[in-house]
Amino acid sequence: MICTPLAAPTPDDLLAALPVAAAAADWLELRLDALHDLPVEAVLRALHHVLPRRPRPVVVTFRPREQGGFRDLSPADRLRFWHTALTTPAEAFDLETDLIAQLLPTYPPNHPVWARVVVSHHDFQATPADIHAFAKAHFPPFAGTVKLAVNVNQPDDVCRLFDWLTGTPSTWQKIPVGMGGLGVLTRILGPAYGARWTYSTGHDGRAVAPGQLTATELRETFRLPSLDRHTTVAGLLGCPVAHSLSKDMHNAAFAHLGLNWVYIPVEVSPDDLAPFLRDAIHPRTRRLPWTVGGYSVTLPHKIAILPYLDRLTATAARVGAVNTILVSGQELIGDNTDVAGAMRPLQQRFALAGEPVAVLGAGGAAQAVVSGLVGAGAQVTVFARHPDRACDLGNRFAVPIAPLDDFHGRRFVGLVNTTPVGMAGYAEGACPVPPERLAGLAWVYDLIYRPRQTPLLQAASQQGLATLDGLPMLVAQAAEQLACWTGQDIPESVLFAAAERALADFKAAGFKSAP
Ligand code: NAP
Repeated sequence: MICTPLAAPTPDDLLAALPVAAAAADWLELRLDALHDLPVEAVLRALHHVLPRRPRPVVVTFRPREQGGFRDLSPADRLRFWHTALTTPAEAFDLETDLIAQLLPTYPPNHPVWARVVVSHHDFQATPADIHAFAKAHFPPFAGTVKLAVNVNQPDDVCRLFDWLTGTPSTWQKIPVGMGGLGVLTRILGPAYGARWTYSTGHDGRAVAPGQLTATELRETFRLPSLDRHTTVAGLLGCPVAHSLSKDMHNAAFAHLGLNWVYIPVEVSPDDLAPFLRDAIHPRTRRLPWTVGGYSVTLPHKIAILPYLDRLTATAARVGAVNTILVSGQELIGDNTDVAGAMRPLQQRFALAGEPVAVLGAGGAAQAVVSGLVGAGAQVTVFARHPDRACDLGNRFAVPIAPLDDFHGRRFVGLVNTTPVGMAGYAEGACPVPPERLAGLAWVYDLIYRPRQTPLLQAASQQGLATLDGLPMLVAQAAEQLACWTGQDIPESVLFAAAERALADFKAAGFKSAP
């Protein structure tokens, strides 16, 4: 069940938003506290006007600013509102815990309205240490549903929210909401484990609480209605992960293969990496209740993760970095599909054995590219803006390192850019080397995929050189991961289509600053 908040400034806007939100939501939350500065009586009139026109069941909310609401409300305003609102036929009412005692004289515990009440507690700082004790102390036993919306600061908080959701049976229906990066697990998997619903962003796509996803994403990308306790969970560990295309590709692949799997990007800070691996992923120590299929690993964890894995595949050991975690029995294995991902599209287009190839940059992606190029027999030279920092790479693969400014195309057949120069949000519009230095090359490969046509590739095309952008690599490394995790081959066309759709949405949304 997906519940979409409608936070409209006027009653007319609220009415207009109903059908828009109803397209992807199962429930609509009428955030009446968002109606700008209307007196309580006018808010109640708006509620009476909207209710007969509701296309879905609604939950009515009228929250004061200090508890996360949109406006200042005195205790008297709130009580006046609820004494009348609770007599309406709305399917549910969201009441903050501090109101309960004051409503009891009019609505005693045996009053039938309590079956429709969601008693809520919000904490934008932290998760209670003992959630069971907290719930017992703060939520009345006669409420039909209780909602705990709390900031999750560490993996342990997420584990305890799921423990509360799935643990001791109670008469309540529960809604745990983890706010913040790690909370995405409660937002996507909560309903599969019994949560009454999960909240999406508002109908206009704007988040009304940290970490929300749109209803369309929840329904179509993550296929929330089909998730259950048998769903195998995969995902991405990184920081940030917000604009990753992996969720689009992997979830499209699971849908195509008919697998009951879901792929969830989780924003894991460097400090949370070890506890997240312990509590959420490792088969010997995992506390979360689902089967883990595997994880992708991205910046900044590709190297930091090495000490926490039981072993590495030969490829990951050669590269010295991991972009894929496999679960095998009781072991966590680190693999690297960036090598195959980078090389497959390149080898399909160009001969490499014995050819002089220049690589720009010496970071994580360069490790995979140089490993693959050396393996294919190319004569590799790495050009880095800080050659001293690239010594490890040079020693590991026995390749020369040169200053970036020394690059000249005439000494090489091919050029691979592994720097982020030209990527959306980072030195956008810039070229990592002066375009005139491309002269003499036969081909240029840019690992950047956002945008696909970087200034470097545009300059190369204008000079008649063959070009390859970064999307085929992204797709190929994802296809390799899927094969490792599921044992099944996925047509790359499915992954391409999903990635291209997401890139088009990204462009249409006008995001500029995403990595
Ligand atoms: P990284 O580990 O941060 O490495 C970046 C490298 O680029 C470093 O050597 C860095 O040098 C250099 N660099 C950064 N800014 C520079 C500048 N202004 N001028 C010259 N050199 C600069 O990042 P990464 O993981 O390797 O990723 C690099 C790029 O590859 C990103 O655009 C990423 O999106 C892309 N990528 C694509 C795929 C794919 O599937 N297509 C996969 C992985 C990565 P310093 O050490 O001096 O900072």
